[in-house]
Amino acid sequence: MADINETLPQTTITSAPAQPPATPAACRLWWPRLRREVIAVPFRVRLTLLYTSLFSLALLVIGIGVHFAVAQALYAGVQRDLTSATQQVRAILNAVGLQSIRTPSGELQLYLDRDFIQLFTNRNIGAQFFRIDGTLASSTPNLEPYMLPLPAEALQLTPADTNGLSLVREINGVPVKSLITPVVLRDGQLLGFLQVSRPLDDVVDTLTLLQQILIGGGLVALIINGLGAMYLSKRALRPIEQITLTAQSIVRAEDLGRRIPEPAQRDEIHQLTVTINELLSRLEQLFSTQQRFVADVSHELRTPLTAMQGNLEVLDRGTCTDPGLLKEVIGDMRRETARLIRMVNDLLLLAQSETHVALRCEPVELDTLLLEVFRELRPLAGQVRLRIGAEDQILVYGDRDRIKQALLNLGVNALQYTPPGGLVILSLERYEQFACLSVADTGIGISEAERAHIFDRFYRVDRSRSRHSGGAGLGLSIVKWVAEAHRGYVTVASEVGRGSTFAIYLPLPASAAPAAE
Ligand code: ADP
Repeated sequence: MADINETLPQTTITSAPAQPPATPAACRLWWPRLRREVIAVPFRVRLTLLYTSLFSLALLVIGIGVHFAVAQALYAGVQRDLTSATQQVRAILNAVGLQSIRTPSGELQLYLDRDFIQLFTNRNIGAQFFRIDGTLASSTPNLEPYMLPLPAEALQLTPADTNGLSLVREINGVPVKSLITPVVLRDGQLLGFLQVSRPLDDVVDTLTLLQQILIGGGLVALIINGLGAMYLSKRALRPIEQITLTAQSIVRAEDLGRRIPEPAQRDEIHQLTVTINELLSRLEQLFSTQQRFVADVSHELRTPLTAMQGNLEVLDRGTCTDPGLLKEVIGDMRRETARLIRMVNDLLLLAQSETHVALRCEPVELDTLLLEVFRELRPLAGQVRLRIGAEDQILVYGDRDRIKQALLNLGVNALQYTPPGGLVILSLERYEQFACLSVADTGIGISEAERAHIFDRFYRVDRSRSRHSGGAGLGLSIVKWVAEAHRGYVTVASEVGRGSTFAIYLPLPASAAPAAE
């Protein structure tokens, strides 16, 4: 059976007259402006627009789908009505529509009872019977207002076209659907055409109502959705606004000590806040370290420079005629200069540690190095007894000069903080996968509270004492850096009044390390 769609008048779709193509120059002019304007729209508004557009698209797709499905179902129902009406009329025709009469010559002949069709009663569906020449033979009364003629193409139907012809026509402004089938006698003779028709006004009304509901409901849903999206995006972005405001106030007040309040909910915003707070803590730490460093360096440089200035004034006053005083002043200046040079060298070395410059990696015989350090320390020992304890033969890979400097720093400290008559022992032993260079003394020792800080830069337990000895509090920072730059570590064990033991652990080469048991 022909589909309703095939019978609908076809609309020719013509495309709108084409716009003249935009020239590349014109594109170049408006595209950056459009981009700038889109970028300038606040993120909240863009989010709302995007969400609402996606929602409208979804609504449109659902609306079209629902409309199409309902229309299909309604038109299929109409088609079913027409098919069953056709079957009913045919049944009536078979039962009472054909009368037989005997002709004067004695033959039996069939004639059509024109009123048979009146027996078909259906308020919505009208039936018409047409002769083979297309003239109306009879019809039910309920279709009169529509005066439906037989379409010309129906005359082409042959007895074989059992499915008939379906079409929709507009009669008096109302669409009417008709199903036309050929009526054929048992001997194959075409008797006429049966046309059953049904106005589609109820279907059109239902579809119009559905459209109105879909459009109206869709608009209401869109407005609710737009308002909801605006509210939600505003709510969702409020914590970010809060973060921005706090960050701005930190910048304005130049106060790195302030923190952004962490939201209670452990979500992405919480994570962002924690990360920014960590960043601020790190910045604050770096900033205060740098400030402290500059203050410490200035302070430490001022002391020897002031001493030298004093000595220069003594020289300037013309007291250099006294050879004893002259010798003393020059000796003082030499010591201060040496101290300055040592401090600047230490600072340079520590600056190198900050820039992560790679250390040399050469084989270092630690036993030889220990002896060398022992020999260099001996002249400084004075009345302190300096000894070598355990001395394994160990080779590691690293920067010989730096390791030596670290060991010298420990040795000098040990001699400095050990009273005359005390003992300092340098040792070298294997310890698990490490070579252990240790310096033990029977000196003044370090309290537990001080031990936590002695590796910090410029930290000195007794400032006056260690300044007198020339230390600026950088020696142990260098030891720590050297050990860690060799992927090792430093330890200290100490007891006040009994002495201290510092040890540098340097990793052994893989083949030299004793196998694990
Ligand atoms: P300094 O140049 O002042 O010696 P260091 O960084 O080498 O600086 O040492 C830091 C502080 O650790 C020293 O001021 C000192 O008080 C303490 N210290 C270091 N070694 C010893 C030691 N062997 N015995 C006692 N105190 C020590």
